[in-house]
Amino acid sequence: MILLSDPSRQFEFIKDKLLGQFEAFISSGNYIMGEKLKLLEQTFAEKLGVSHAIGVGNGTDALTLALDAFGIGEGDEVITTPFTFFATAEAISRKGAKPVFADVDPLTFNLDPAKIEAAITPRTKAMIPVHLFGHPADMESIGMLAQKYGLIVIEDACQAFGARFKGKYAGSFGHAACFSFFPTKNLSTMGDGGMVVTSDPDAAAQIARLRHHGSPRKYYHDTIGYNSRLDELHALILLEAINYAEQWNNQRRLKADRYRQSLEPLPYLQLPYEADGAHSVYHLYCISSKAREPLLTALRQAGVQAGVYYPCPLHLQKAYAGLGYRPGDLPVSEQLSRQLFAIPLHPFLLESEQDYIVSILRNYRGAD
Ligand SMILES: *Cc1c(COP(=O)(O)O)cnc(C)c1O
Repeated sequence: MILLSDPSRQFEFIKDKLLGQFEAFISSGNYIMGEKLKLLEQTFAEKLGVSHAIGVGNGTDALTLALDAFGIGEGDEVITTPFTFFATAEAISRKGAKPVFADVDPLTFNLDPAKIEAAITPRTKAMIPVHLFGHPADMESIGMLAQKYGLIVIEDACQAFGARFKGKYAGSFGHAACFSFFPTKNLSTMGDGGMVVTSDPDAAAQIARLRHHGSPRKYYHDTIGYNSRLDELHALILLEAINYAEQWNNQRRLKADRYRQSLEPLPYLQLPYEADGAHSVYHLYCISSKAREPLLTALRQAGVQAGVYYPCPLHLQKAYAGLGYRPGDLPVSEQLSRQLFAIPLHPFLLESEQDYIVSILRNYRGAD
């Protein structure tokens, strides 16, 4: 079976370095909020060119804590994309605010700035653009909207560590940005983990308190917080992985190029598009096709894992039935949910594996 993403190959690559540190780590007795986390936070912030990075329990909590730190809650509307992983909207709802969905661009699959502007109301307080599949959202237009309407921007960069827009890193545009280190993300650990970055010192201090029960010092609590920290064990792993993040992202880009070269002539496939000024890290390689179902069957029968991202846009999820959206309201997202599918792409995917996947897609007969 050729897997969509194969994090074990990444960890295998850094295994000796990890094992070399493990004895000392075990005997350190220091497992939560220690030196490794501090060093990771520093390294992370420096790499992205922001002032603060705060390690948290996962990407969903990163979003929730960022919203919390900017005072977003009951009565507020937050505009986001319906074409993302559920957690983006879930964090908004978890804070008691209302997610308002704006449709996406059919080529980049990211929020369409014109659709955002149409969705702004006097209750709108923030926007959460997602850099979907590692392709940066149009942060220039989104930044202009934020200025014009006085809105907070929280980037969901959970799929986009190292992505750039016009030379600047995803995660360095908004008031804050959120990352996930879930094993299949392009920078990941062997479990759950997350990070919030911001250049706002007050928000940074607030998030640092919130992740630890609202506590600025032991057994004193300023606010009601969370228990959402990034363990030293994960910081140790991430400190090794982050050294290779750029190299691994480049491998993803090279392999995306190889797919493009060999799949481009096929009339029944629409390949991922990279917008002007965008440097995608191809967290996933998603192709659009009217023949999705037979192609998925052909791939799976040939032992290739293929995935549908995402089969149901968020405005049509059962959990959001109460928001009153209907099929047809956000047509681009709905069409993508019917036509898009991902094929394996990761830094350690072999050329022979790629060629095999290409041959299955090329041999497909039955498209018009
Ligand atoms: C993975 C992901 C999240 C949530 O991250 P977790 O670490 O799994 O909580 C949020 N948004 C997007 C776009 C994601 O891909």
